[in-house]
Amino acid sequence: MRIKKVAVLGAGTMGSQIAAHLANAGLDVILLDLNKEVARNGLKRALEINPPAFMDKNFRYFIKVGGFDENFDMIKDADWIIEAVVEKLDIKREIFEKVEKYRKPSSIVSSNTSGIPIHLLAENRSDNFKENFLGTHFFNPPRYMKLLEIIPTKWTKKEVIEEIKAFCEEYLGKGVVIAKDTPNFIANRIGIFSIMMVFKLMKEMDLTIEEVDYLTGEIIGRPRTATFRLADLVGVDVLYNVAKNLNILLKDDEFKDVFEIPQFLQEMINRNLIGDKVKAGFYKKENDKRFVLDLNTLEYREQKQVNLPEFMQIQNIENLEDRIRAIFNLNTKHAEFLKKLIISISLYSLNRVGEIADDIVNIDNGMKWGFNWKVGPFETIDIITTEKFKNYVKEYNLPLNKEIPDRFYKDNNYYDFNSKSYKPIERRKEIIIISEIKAKNKVIIENPEASIIDLDDGVLLLEFHSKANSIGIGTISMLNTALDILEKEKRFIGLVITNDDERTFSAGANLGLIAMSIGEGAFDEVERAVVSFQKVNMRMKYSKKPIVAGAFGIAVGGGCEVLLHTHRIVSHSELYTGLVEVGVGLIPAGGGTKEFTIRALNYPENVENYDIFPIFRLYLENIGTAKVSSSAFEAKKMGILREGDIIVFNRDFLTYYAKNMVIGLYNSGFKGFYGPARVRMLGWDGYSAVLASLVNLKKGKFITEYDAFIIEKLAYVMTGGPDVAPGTIFDEWQILELEKKVFMELVKQKKTQERIFYFLKNRKPLRN
Ligand code: NAD
Repeated sequence: MRIKKVAVLGAGTMGSQIAAHLANAGLDVILLDLNKEVARNGLKRALEINPPAFMDKNFRYFIKVGGFDENFDMIKDADWIIEAVVEKLDIKREIFEKVEKYRKPSSIVSSNTSGIPIHLLAENRSDNFKENFLGTHFFNPPRYMKLLEIIPTKWTKKEVIEEIKAFCEEYLGKGVVIAKDTPNFIANRIGIFSIMMVFKLMKEMDLTIEEVDYLTGEIIGRPRTATFRLADLVGVDVLYNVAKNLNILLKDDEFKDVFEIPQFLQEMINRNLIGDKVKAGFYKKENDKRFVLDLNTLEYREQKQVNLPEFMQIQNIENLEDRIRAIFNLNTKHAEFLKKLIISISLYSLNRVGEIADDIVNIDNGMKWGFNWKVGPFETIDIITTEKFKNYVKEYNLPLNKEIPDRFYKDNNYYDFNSKSYKPIERRKEIIIISEIKAKNKVIIENPEASIIDLDDGVLLLEFHSKANSIGIGTISMLNTALDILEKEKRFIGLVITNDDERTFSAGANLGLIAMSIGEGAFDEVERAVVSFQKVNMRMKYSKKPIVAGAFGIAVGGGCEVLLHTHRIVSHSELYTGLVEVGVGLIPAGGGTKEFTIRALNYPENVENYDIFPIFRLYLENIGTAKVSSSAFEAKKMGILREGDIIVFNRDFLTYYAKNMVIGLYNSGFKGFYGPARVRMLGWDGYSAVLASLVNLKKGKFITEYDAFIIEKLAYVMTGGPDVAPGTIFDEWQILELEKKVFMELVKQKKTQERIFYFLKNRKPLRN
């Protein structure tokens, strides 16, 4: 890695958060603004922002702040200098003039501008500067938004583009697209077109904000924030500025008029109704009531429930492609709106190939990564079919400026307009797509909840694919089968557990199933399930062949317990994991409580009078408060990830790295953990200490009576209880037995059952 030290110029919204994310990646960061004080304040805001910019607040110490006035020379040994000051050409130019004075000749310099042409920023600079200069357009918030647009100029060296691209993919986890130096680049050009087109069509068709948000959200594979919630979230002013910029800069755009600012938008800006940051935009919340702006009168009125019966059925179609096709088969006003919108966006994108990007892949990726669309504009045409697309274009009288092929994508190839032929989609070797492997006849065995797949090179993959990848009888049975195969078949050297879901590694035990058993009074079934989950986790932990989890996103409850029983974890940096069972009135009983107990009490045998209780209490509290990590780094602090586990920033590389971890462990002689583990229990000392602290928590109303009841039971499992002498040695199976006993007691409690049913209904915990 050549890039070790990065300077960020401008500590505003973007600069401070980009600096934070660079610090997340473990780099040395310099953050400068007008003066040291301003920079320091910017850093402070990044520390307070929500969702958090830092994966661990201690990473702030990787950032050194300074001022343009006195500390510009701090950039002299930076390998990469990112400019993120106000969006003003002359100010940016001034900054770059200074950069030229202090930078080392081998450094790369980039601008985060959203709308200023990149080549204008490089004008008047030296040749060396120009060769090392490019646009790097991060999206807000930079930690969470996957897209990074790279905008080279005609002067930018090829190696510079490649280096920044590879660096941002590997170290910052970005999805990189290469954009041309045209107004607002790729994603904002198409994304703002989409929003402005919505404004235009909704006016023509007289639709309400609620209707539009219902239609332009999840139903068509876009985020739930749809159109207007998104505008409020990013800021109506931001949207306004980009649209205005486009309207000024686009000279011969066939849809130039679409970018004209509608009167309501201008008026909103005049009245400072710019969205969430001022708590009033298209939506407003007051005294728990939700209001929405009437775009004709610009008065707020109460929000209404959307009632479009013809979409009810479509909404329930699981597969997005089928949903889109169903919309195109519908002939109502609202379907007409969507058809016109979708066709216009795809057509607009089509007309931009060659202008804003070299190929369709960069445009589709830009929209998927920058706006969280599930399918890009060209993929959408393939879903509708080009035949139908052309008919609609004719029907709507839209200007199509290209000959188009039968399909835009075929297998792993895309249609290239330059050569008028199909070309392979370039993909890094680190990207393994599980569905593609499955399509190659690599599924060894499967059931509705999970599949066992041959990953080649002797590595097996267990993929969960139940709803929310929850753990039920089927997943447990597939886990056992995978372990059977590992034991029996010599050619398999180890197992990876992961899946390609966007958000969820596993949401935990199938609570619906537990609720059903409660309803039927079938507690013996619940107990059998608990035992089988404990057993399979233990089997995993003591497998002689390496088992590696590719962890990411949500991995809670039983999902976390699976992680706790693997040999190694390769985790995406965005990992939200924890043992959350207390929230539904239970304790972790798949070995989670046991694992936390062992990990908490792990200290050298020959140390005497060592006070382990404060550490033990942390582990107990993490279960007792249902704590979930806000990053993989926090998961490490919680003891879920351990030394030797790996944190990777690019989600798409997870399966590849986990697979290689298996191969590496196997090839380095891994023969399994020794066990069952034995622990010195804290016994009655620990038990009474926990009970004593509960008294105060109850008194201060930090926890409810029933919370205290559960935590007491949890303390019983984790310490051995009031009848066990401190220092008594338990082995894992004894703790598992206690886990099960307490779990079965709790699941029969009325208040636990209320918590379970409430959670299933409302998706949030009940504090009874
Ligand atoms: P901001 O207003 O939050 O921060 C700009 C910073 O520039 C401030 O810290 C300010 O102190 C500093 N500054 C002001 N005047 C200056 C001057 N004369 N000389 C030097 N510095 C000065 O802006 P932002 O939203 O962080 O945007 C920064 C850049 O990133 C812009 O080019 C913008 O187009 C781009 N961008 C913004 C977003 C976004 O959503 N906010 C997204 C992508 C790109």
